[in-house]
Order: sequence, then structure tokens, then C-alpha cells
Amino acid sequence: MANYEKIESALIHGGNTTDKQTGSVNVPIYQTSTYQQTGLGENPKWEYSRTGNPTRAALESLIAELEGGTAGFAFGSGMAAITAVLSLFKSGDKILISSNVYGGTFRVLDKVFNNFGIGYSIEDTTNINALEQKITPEVKAILIESPANPLLTITDIAAVAALTKKHGILAIVDNTFMTPYLQRPIELGADIVIHSATKYLGGHSDLVAGLVVVNDTKLAERLAFIQNSTGGILGPFDSFLLIRGIKTLGVRLDRHVENAEKLANYLVNHKGVKKVYYPGLPDAQGYEINKRQAKNGGAMISFELYENYDIKKFFKNLRLVALAESLGGVESLVCHPASMTHASIPYEIRQKVGITDGLIRLSVGIENSDDLIADIDNAIAESEGM
Ligand SMILES: *Cc1c(COP(=O)(O)O)cnc(C)c1O
Repeated sequence: MANYEKIESALIHGGNTTDKQTGSVNVPIYQTSTYQQTGLGENPKWEYSRTGNPTRAALESLIAELEGGTAGFAFGSGMAAITAVLSLFKSGDKILISSNVYGGTFRVLDKVFNNFGIGYSIEDTTNINALEQKITPEVKAILIESPANPLLTITDIAAVAALTKKHGILAIVDNTFMTPYLQRPIELGADIVIHSATKYLGGHSDLVAGLVVVNDTKLAERLAFIQNSTGGILGPFDSFLLIRGIKTLGVRLDRHVENAEKLANYLVNHKGVKKVYYPGLPDAQGYEINKRQAKNGGAMISFELYENYDIKKFFKNLRLVALAESLGGVESLVCHPASMTHASIPYEIRQKVGITDGLIRLSVGIENSDDLIADIDNAIAESEGM
């Protein structure tokens, strides 16, 4: 039994992340592909590092504990994790996805899994009654993000999970934007949780990784089989780095969110800002639902400037905040979803779901908030007057 109760302690002491042999407080990096066996047919615990590696296993037990699931799986990227989960389905099956899912999730369904006869359709998962009407016999899962990327749309996770239980299908939640520190979908009834651990869990923009947690032993067996068969595993060194990142998740996120709340309030009150999307603002879509299912609004903000501001100039004039893909690192990053993260979504669909060409997405880092506000304030001022 664990000798702690709260997640702040679990981040540091959870999973089997110490080393019994030496007392090392960190799990060693088992940089090995194979393991010497004691004899023929003696079924060793470790046999080949695609199947299992002690460093990766430590990470997998840690994320399973943090998300409150039965088993965790680590992959070479968030997309490899999503690909493994989608490999649970077969030709003829269909998956319903939130209208604002990560562009890569849309792309792998549209351009890869579609070729294998696995269908998808984009739905407004914020409307539970309308969503239920879309559950036809071939629908086998609903895949959601909450908040969804990049408009920070909130979906009621417990309501979607109740719907999937009623229809005997799976609820899959990509929890990248919140992490188990802020939101635990399995406790809300979800069957599978996915992470791009590249983001907040790693937290330092120095690795690419993906994680999956399931809440049921049958699903765990199937996913272990897929992980070993398709082979998109995370290596021992990156597994070690990720365990290291997760230890500081709590303190990092506390500062990320504190800064995000300050920035959101600053942006809301700026005369040049047309719209701010941040789930922590009381008039945000889904504010009450998010308050119920998550600890706070997280640290991602999207906003639009009025038409008389030149967004190219805005990006050019930032000095502290970097223009880059990705999010969730200690440094603040800004991106233009329409031409960057969501460029793989066709223009018409982007317009339909609200990813306009003027939309700016901000991943708020843990720098000093006054410095961040000064940088953005200057960039907005420099971009005024077209
Ligand atoms: C980045 C991201 C992914 C993809 O993860 P990679 O680690 O880049 O492969 C999936 N979902 C969300 C929400 C993301 O932000």
C-alpha cells in the first residue's frame, strides 16, 4: 500500500520508480534490448525490450497510478499511442470524434485508418443529446478532448462516458491538455486515456512520447498485445526523462495556471482583443462543466485580435514568447493553428469548427507573468493599424 494519499506525492513516489537492488531513488536506465534467460522454458519476467523494459515499465506503472487505471503503456509519440488505441478497432467500425481534436488525430483517421475500413465522423460532442443520435450499430467508440484543441471547447466527460456505457462502446479521452494533475477521466467513467507526454508530462520540450491508460484488464491485455505486435514503444532513456518530468508536474502546473489566469484576464481587458478562449473564464463555453470535472482552466489560451491588427506583425514582434508548434513546456509558446497545428484539416472544415485565420494559440509557460504580459502587450501594440 502506498504511504500517501494525494496526487502531489504520487507524482514523486508513484509507480515502481525506485530501484530495490541498490536503493537508488531513481529507476536505472536499463539500456538493453534483451535479457539473459536462466534456462529453456523457464518463462523469464523480462525477455526482449519491445515486449518489456524495466525503465519503461516503471513509467507505465506510474501513469496507470496517476490516472487511476489498471495498466499503462508508453509509446514513442502521442501519435503512436493514438495509433495503438485505434488498432483496437476493425474494418467496418466507426469512431465519433470531437470537432476540435488534435489535427494529427484527424489526419491518421482520415488518411491511414480510413484505408483499412475504419470510419470516423466529426461531431459536436458538447451536445450530448445530438451525439446520442449519431450512435449507429457500427459506432464502437467516442474519442474526445476536453478542453479540445485549439478553441478549448469543453465536453462533459462523465456524460459522454455514461452514453458509451449505455450503448456498450468505448469512451476514449485525450487528456494531454489537462494531465492527471488537473483532470482524471477514468474517475469520470472513461475507458481509455491517451496522452501526448511530449507536452505537460515531459514538460521541458526535450522529448516526444505518448502514453495510454486503460481501466480494465481485458483492454489492458489487448493493448499489451498491440504494443508488442506493432512495436511503437518508448525507449529506456526517454522513459527515464519522462519519469523525471512527471515529478515536477504539480509545481509546474500550479505556476502555468497562475500565469494563464493572469494572461487571460489581461487579454479580456485589451481593446485590441476580439475574443478570448480560456475555460477558466466564467463566461467561457462549458465553464461550469469544466469546474466540475477539472481542477481549473489549465494553461492554454486562444485568442483573436480585431481585423485592424496584423497578426504576421504580432508574431514577428514577440521577443520572449517563441513561435513554435507544441505546448506544455516550461517556456511560453505561441502558434497559428490555421497554418501550423491544424493545417492538415481542410479549410472548409476549419471554418466550420471556428479555427479562423486570425486565431492565435498560446501555451503559457512558467516565466514571470509580468514579463509575459509586457511581451504580448508590446507585440499587440506593434501590430496595430492596418
Ligand atoms: C501533440 C498532441 C498529440 C500528438 O502527440 P505527439 O507526441 O506530437 O505525437 C495528440 N493529442 C494532443 C491533444 C496533442 O496536443
